[in-house]
Amino acid sequence: MKATQQLLIGGHWQNGEAATFVKHDSVSGESLWSGGAASEAQVGAAVEAARSAMPDWARTPLEERKALVERFREVLETHREDLAMAIAHETGKPLWEARTEVGAMIGKVAISIRAQQERAGERERDLGDARAVLRHRPHGVMAVFGPYNFPGHLPNGHIVPALLAGNSVVFKPSEQTPLTADLTLQCWREAGLPDGVINLVQGAAPVGQALSQHPGIDGLLFTGSAKVGGLLQRQFADQLGKILALELGGNNPLVVKDVPDQDAAVLTILQSAFASGGQRCTCARRLIVPRGNAGDMLLEALAVAIGKLRVASQFAEPSGFYGGLATLEAADGLLEAQADLEARGGRVLSRMARLEEGTSLLSPALIDVTGVEVPDEEHFGPLLKVYRSADWDEAIAMANDTRYGLSAGLIGGEQADWDDFLLRIRAGIVNWNRQTTGASGDAPFGGVGDSGNHRPSAYYAADYCAYPVASMESQDL
Ligand code: NAD
Repeated sequence: MKATQQLLIGGHWQNGEAATFVKHDSVSGESLWSGGAASEAQVGAAVEAARSAMPDWARTPLEERKALVERFREVLETHREDLAMAIAHETGKPLWEARTEVGAMIGKVAISIRAQQERAGERERDLGDARAVLRHRPHGVMAVFGPYNFPGHLPNGHIVPALLAGNSVVFKPSEQTPLTADLTLQCWREAGLPDGVINLVQGAAPVGQALSQHPGIDGLLFTGSAKVGGLLQRQFADQLGKILALELGGNNPLVVKDVPDQDAAVLTILQSAFASGGQRCTCARRLIVPRGNAGDMLLEALAVAIGKLRVASQFAEPSGFYGGLATLEAADGLLEAQADLEARGGRVLSRMARLEEGTSLLSPALIDVTGVEVPDEEHFGPLLKVYRSADWDEAIAMANDTRYGLSAGLIGGEQADWDDFLLRIRAGIVNWNRQTTGASGDAPFGGVGDSGNHRPSAYYAADYCAYPVASMESQDL
C-alpha cells in the first residue's frame, strides 16, 4: 500500500493547502510522510462533506452499515503488515508490538458491531393501548482526534462506533502519525464507505483548532493529553448539547504492599512502567514502596533488571522490550524531566541516557523522589518515580495525591488489602498483581479527574455515539 500524502474530503483525495509537514522515523531518520496540512477552508469543506453525507448514511439500514464495517475489517486483514510497518516506523514501537496493535484494531471492530447491536438497538414495551419504543439516533458529525501512541487502534475505537451509529466522521490524526491514518482511510475507501461519510484532515494544532471550533460538528471524541483536552473542554464550555468525550493521560500509581515474590514483583513493575517505553496512558508513573529492608531489596533488584532491559530500534533482531519515542523532541523532553527531578533533589537509581546519538532510543530512568516537591505531571516515556511510604495509609494517600485518576495497581497484600484499596483509590482502571496497562477489550476504559470525562472502550462508545429517543405510539387515535 502506498501513502497518498493527501487529505480525504467528500470522497476525493486532495493536497493539503497549508504548510507542508514531514514525519520522520525518530530512530532511522527516514522520511515517512510529506504533505500539506489542511487549510482552514479545507477543514470547513471536510465538515460540510460530512454534514451532506450524514442523512443518507443515517438512513442506511443498520445491517448495511454493519456489512460495510465488516468489509472494512476484512480489508484491514489484507493490509495487516503495511499497517504494522507504518505504526512501527511512526511511533518507534517494535514491529512485534505494532502487529499486536493491528490485531487489537481488527478485534475491536467485531466488539463494536456486537456493542452496537446490544447497547444501541431498539427496545419495545407493550403498554396495552400503546407501545413504548426506545430508539437511538446519531448525533450528526463527529470529529475524532487521535493520539500518536496507538494511531491505528485508538482512533478506530471511536470511528467505528460513531459510523455504526449512523454518524459521519472527520478524522484528525496526530501529526506524528499521518501515514497510519492515510493507510487506514484507504482501507475505508477500499471497503466501499460512501463519499463524505469519513473524511481525513492532516496537520497539527491549527488543524485541530479549526476542527474543534467549527460550528458544524456535533461531537468531539478526543484521545490525547490532559493539556490539550483541558483546552478543548474550556473552549467547548458554551457549546450546549454537543458531545465531548475526553480520554486523557494519568500520573498513575503502583503501590507495593509487600513482596511475596520479588521476581514476579519486578516483572510486574517493568511491564507497568516501561511497556511501550512508557508511552501508554495507563503506564505506572509513580512506584510507592514501603520503607525498610524488603523495599530496599526490591528497588535494588528492579535497578538490576532495568539495566538488562533491551531497548532497540523497531526492526532489530532480537527485538527490544521497547523501541524509540515518537520524536527526538519527546526524547529531549524526557531527558530534561530527569535533569529537573534530579535538580529538585531526586536520587537517580537508574539513569536514563540516549542510547544512540540522533535517535529517540532512551534507556529507562528510576528516580527516588521521596520528600521532593515534584510537579503532578505525566512524563510520557520510560521514567518511573519512586516514593517510600511509612505505612499503608501513607501509601494510599501518596497514590491519591494527583489531579489525575486513570490507572492504579497494587502488588502484594491479602484480599482485605485489595478490598480496601478498591474502596479508597481514585482511578478508573485498577489491577491487582498485574501490570497497570492491562484492560480487557470490552471493559470500560477511562478515568476520573484530569484523566477525562468518559469511560469508553468500543462497548460503551455505542452509548455516546447516539442519543436515545423515547416514544409512545398507537396506530389508533
Ligand atoms: P496530544 O494531546 O499532544 O495530541 C492529541 C491530538 O490533539 C493530536 O491529534 C494533536 O494534533 C491534537 N492537538 C494538539 N494540540 C491541539 C490544539 N491546541 N488544539 C486542537 N488539537 C490539538 O497527545 P499525544 O501526545 O498525541 O498523545 C499522548 C497523550 O495521550 C498522553 O497524555 C496519553 O496519556 C494520552 N492518551 C490517553 C489515552 C486514554 O485512553 N485515556 C490513550 C492513549 C493516549
